[in-house]
Amino acid sequence: MRLAVQPAAMNGSWKLGRLFGIDIFVHATFVLLLGWIAVSAYLREHTAQAVLGGVLFIMAIFGTVVLHELGHSLMARRFGIRTRDITLLPIGGVARLERMPEKPGEELLVALAGPLVNVVIALALFAVLSATGQAIMLVDPSSTESSPIAVRLFWVNVSLAIFNLIPAFPMDGGRALRAVLALGSDYIRATRVAAKLGRGIAVVLGLVGLLYNPMLVLVALFVWTGAGAEAAGVETKASLHGLPTYTAMETQFASLHAHDTLHTAAHKLLGGAQVDFPVVDPNGTVVGLLTRHALIAGLAQKGPDGSVESTMERQFPVAHPAEMLEVALARLTESSSKSMPVVADGRLVGMLTADNIAEFLMVRDAIGAGRRRHALHFAA
Ligand code: ZN
Repeated sequence: MRLAVQPAAMNGSWKLGRLFGIDIFVHATFVLLLGWIAVSAYLREHTAQAVLGGVLFIMAIFGTVVLHELGHSLMARRFGIRTRDITLLPIGGVARLERMPEKPGEELLVALAGPLVNVVIALALFAVLSATGQAIMLVDPSSTESSPIAVRLFWVNVSLAIFNLIPAFPMDGGRALRAVLALGSDYIRATRVAAKLGRGIAVVLGLVGLLYNPMLVLVALFVWTGAGAEAAGVETKASLHGLPTYTAMETQFASLHAHDTLHTAAHKLLGGAQVDFPVVDPNGTVVGLLTRHALIAGLAQKGPDGSVESTMERQFPVAHPAEMLEVALARLTESSSKSMPVVADGRLVGMLTADNIAEFLMVRDAIGAGRRRHALHFAA
């Protein structure tokens, strides 16, 4: 149902298993939903059978949601994009892709692959119902709660396909729309248009949801915030276009030595705003990165006398000062790190963080606005 690229895994989720090399998680709130379905089925029919039927039906729905997300993931894999994991939430599934495809044609296929899975499942169920002479039940208005699970699943898949194709960016239909628009104009303008339309639809969904279905309000919130965040991300990438990494890297930062203790590291953490520290050897070569997370975990495990060397991360992204900022930022976003050392000829020359890039853009925009105001002043 959804595609996301946020780097951090969702809190409060349990791993269900692994399919096609992708971990499948279920969020704790989903279990609450199962409980609610079971209780409401019991209150309605007072039989264990009704409870079991209700729970089985929900499990079947979430099976189709997993297949929907796998549709996105396996299509993305064809374009060399990995999926970090798939999480099931009460309002649907989220496939966390490492990144979105850049080519509009690829994004279109990745976006459509999910709903296409639902179309295929619906067709398969229709074939089975026809073969067993039950297809007539699909148009029987009196059969809803009591109809066979295959009939209800047919309608679930039809609804999922239609619902996801609503052009509310960043839902599947909205992504497909952005991709189609981007084929004809540039990516940023296409995103702006898709995000605006997405927010408009979110308002409508929210209002309809307030009247009829609280789940729709959650979807509307997701569309509203998602559209804004994705549009902002694309604008940032566009403003970084053509700039080398050294223009936006931090040049004043603290670093650690591999033989330093965690006590020293904690002092540096508390003494300033820096959260991730590059670790260098006596020649100035970067050998590790000590993140705040690793430092805190290390302090808890090994105490203040533990060594930086035994706690630091040894695998982390690195940038080159002459490399394009958008390329470096994409690598930083793909990794789970918040900062990356900038290294030239084996020596540490800077640190690149998302915060610093944001500050860099603010400064640049302010200078641009100042220039425009001065120009007006002179013209007046
Ligand atoms: Zn989807």
